[in-house]
Amino acid sequence: MPQYKSIFKDETKLDINYVPHKLPHREAEMRLLIEFFSFALQAPDKMAQRAIIAGDVGTGKTVLSQRFGNRMTDEAVKLGINLRYVHVNCREYRGSLFLILHHIVSIFHPNFPNRGYSAEELLGMLLQILDDENAHVILALDEFESLIERESSEAVYKLTRLQEIRQDKPQRLSLICILRNLRAVDKLDLSTRSSLQSNIVNLEKYSKQQLIDILNDRVSLAFKPLTLPEETLNLTAELASSENGNARFGIELLWRSGKYADAENLNRVTPECVRKAVSSILPAMQKNEMASLRFHEKLFLLGVARVLKESQKACISFVDGEQAYSIACEEFNVKPHSHTQLWKYLKTLSALGILRTEVPATDSRGRSTLIYLPNIPVYDLEKELNVLLKKEEM
Ligand code: ADP
Ligand code: MG
Repeated sequence: MPQYKSIFKDETKLDINYVPHKLPHREAEMRLLIEFFSFALQAPDKMAQRAIIAGDVGTGKTVLSQRFGNRMTDEAVKLGINLRYVHVNCREYRGSLFLILHHIVSIFHPNFPNRGYSAEELLGMLLQILDDENAHVILALDEFESLIERESSEAVYKLTRLQEIRQDKPQRLSLICILRNLRAVDKLDLSTRSSLQSNIVNLEKYSKQQLIDILNDRVSLAFKPLTLPEETLNLTAELASSENGNARFGIELLWRSGKYADAENLNRVTPECVRKAVSSILPAMQKNEMASLRFHEKLFLLGVARVLKESQKACISFVDGEQAYSIACEEFNVKPHSHTQLWKYLKTLSALGILRTEVPATDSRGRSTLIYLPNIPVYDLEKELNVLLKKEEM
């Protein structure tokens, strides 16, 4: 057996903290952000901006903001403007305004004492430092909800209003508030809310096709050429799409699937690797659920599992599943149920999340329905079904 070292070229490209250069399908949102903050490169003293980035988990809020920050600071360097982008995850600072501000001040003065001052004093000092260094900051408050929860309106009010009491001085501090749900902002008082809500960048969930593009980019950065076949990518995107269009889930799956392939010394990442990866992330398939299936549902599932195992594919056609089911019926000495009944079993199995179906866009009558086994490794499933079916046979 040949020894494949690793199918990864650079697995750090799949790290959660990696900020890729290109963010497919976020170009418009990036342009909008740059538009909101264009003054920071043109007349930084003149104003301070506030914006919100909102979207579900894995829609790219954090990475968009960070890439934006990199772009802005690169431009600023060229223009000789002292602009800093500071990205803070509020949850990591337990939502405490004091800890967050202390962190920012420490960027400028690394050994700044962490006691003896109030949050308000820290804020004053921060502005003083920025005045002294003629610096401007775009502060991204990631997981902003946790700041609102801990500090209520007051803290956010301070952050957003502090410039107004120093009207004659240059503006120094702009804000990007990153949150999942805009409803969190409703908890703020009206004036703070209105000062935030005028600039909102809303990130929609990614579609499966968009996820394919995003994952594809990552595959070429992280994997050796030709080690991750299209159908593996497709299955991964399908799964990420059903996890609410969560790109993070997709990228994590890529990484884990690659680890399974390496562990088995494979020269490519197979759909089975992905199924193993999912079953290691999502809670293991409820065995009770499987046991409670009807005899013929189990037989059909067994058929599907066998075809998938033999073909090593990510999905199979309904027709192939039906054929394999008939063979399984013969083995267990039962008469196969009708096509219509099988169709119902398929519906039940996908409602339970055990199988997933996809009808190609070109097929309006559903004849070429594809069947996926998304999150149980074929081997485990086949073993489990054989045990259950033998038991019931007796
Ligand atoms: P959120 O903060 O909304 O939960 P993240 O910004 O952490 O989401 O994104 C989740 C993962 O997906 C990260 O690894 C990120 O790099 C990646 N990602 C999200 N959107 C894109 C995109 N458009 N292009 C490339 N990678 C993306
Ligand atoms: Mg995030």
